[in-house]
Amino acid sequence: MKTVLIAGAGAAGLMAAKMLSSKGFSVVVLEAATVIGGRICTLYDPAFSQPLEAGAEFVHGKLPVTLQLLEEAGIEYEPVVRKMVSIVNGRWHQQDALMEGWDELMQRLQSVQQDITVAAFLEQYFSQEQYAALRKAVKRFAEGYDLADIHKASVLALREEWMNDEEEQYHLPGGYGQLIRYLEQQCIAQGCTIYTSHVVKNVEWKHNSVHVTCANGSRFSGNKLILTVSPGVLNTEEKELGHIHFSPAIPQYLQAMLQLGFGAVIKLQLLFREAFWLHKFNNAVFFLSNESIPTWWTQADHEYPLLTGWLGGPVVNNYTQQDEAQLLNDAVHSLAGIFNMTVDDVRGALLQTRIFNWCHEPFVRGAYSYATLNMQKAVQQLTTPLEHTVYFAGEAMYLGAHPGTVEAALVTGQQVAASITNS
Ligand SMILES: Cc1cc2nc3c(=O)[nH]c(=O)nc-3n(C[C@H](O)[C@H](O)[C@H](O)COP(=O)(O)OP(=O)(O)OC[C@H]3O[C@@H](n4cnc5c(N)ncnc54)[C@H](O)[C@@H]3O)c2cc1C
Repeated sequence: MKTVLIAGAGAAGLMAAKMLSSKGFSVVVLEAATVIGGRICTLYDPAFSQPLEAGAEFVHGKLPVTLQLLEEAGIEYEPVVRKMVSIVNGRWHQQDALMEGWDELMQRLQSVQQDITVAAFLEQYFSQEQYAALRKAVKRFAEGYDLADIHKASVLALREEWMNDEEEQYHLPGGYGQLIRYLEQQCIAQGCTIYTSHVVKNVEWKHNSVHVTCANGSRFSGNKLILTVSPGVLNTEEKELGHIHFSPAIPQYLQAMLQLGFGAVIKLQLLFREAFWLHKFNNAVFFLSNESIPTWWTQADHEYPLLTGWLGGPVVNNYTQQDEAQLLNDAVHSLAGIFNMTVDDVRGALLQTRIFNWCHEPFVRGAYSYATLNMQKAVQQLTTPLEHTVYFAGEAMYLGAHPGTVEAALVTGQQVAASITNS
């Protein structure tokens, strides 16, 4: 029986483990954190009466692998009402498309043949003064939603993604963590071993043989190794937690990893005494503004007094580890601006706050990937296994229409498992 070692027990690693163990492979999963799930991180915090999503929260459309898995596991999912309102200088407008000027933007995007960055695209087609608002909206959306640096992001990839944006989105009332629990149960039932608090540190490999040493000194051997750790982790320096040393070295793979775009996000969960936003504007669910924490949304259970704040893209780099008080201050000011309240009123209504800055998670170091001009080539390199022995998977290795999602991670888990099964 061949042994497959998998670094990382997120969606990609567990999906690969499930498939390989069902085919009779002996599978050992090594997870650095104390819990499994990675960027799927549902917290059952006693201060909150409903599950709290620190990471992934939505299923962004009818995504086949995710929905199939939810059905298989019997996990409930519900459509999310995408009622959006945009607030500019205190004025509220219903927003039906993802951004103002969407139709004109799409028309222009259709005509692009040669890939360029989003910044170059805006410069080329929308540089006149009359398009100032559209330029701002595209930048805000690319940075906020895709977490992209517009000077690096591929306009063709974003076009593909935006055109495939689906009206219907879903959330899991019992939390995304149920999906992880299901995958874990399946893996264990099929004989996988999953170790948490096992930070892969050293990988010695040759054809069909891998020896892995973890930071706690434990050693594991196998025939194949799948690495599902994020680009943020693979690009860390030697002295950093989570860094993986390869022997022999794999410079061309690490070089390719540097070509991927990997964005940053801070997610804020603010619990209030009551849902003061209820009935404010046609029961809007998403609030999009120009405030310093620009995007907020409510829960599907409208009465639940939780607002989720979202700050994504290069701006996140302005916040350091010590900045939680600053973030909370910005959050309160942003909400005061959006809901036309005083800062003191917002503060007075606040019960609990949880802030998740994913750049500071030592085993993630970012949030999710976006396509750069070189991404296709880089992913092709990374998904070509090293002597049929070392494989890469994880959301950043995905080239389909739903990048940066749980779906992307699950698909790459399936692909890498199929590649090993067929090799
Ligand atoms: C705030 C946030 C919100 C998001 N919202 C959504 C959403 O609404 N919908 C959606 O579809 N997607 C969303 N995503 C993206 C989605 O969560 C990810 O694409 C997906 O979960 C990534 O799974 P993965 O298996 O590729 O990577 P990960 O989940 O990162 O798994 C990799 C694992 O490797 C482990 N690891 C790292 N280093 C080592 C090491 N040296 N040794 C051993 N193990 C190691 C990590 O601890 C981690 O558990 C969101 C992400 C974030 C951060």
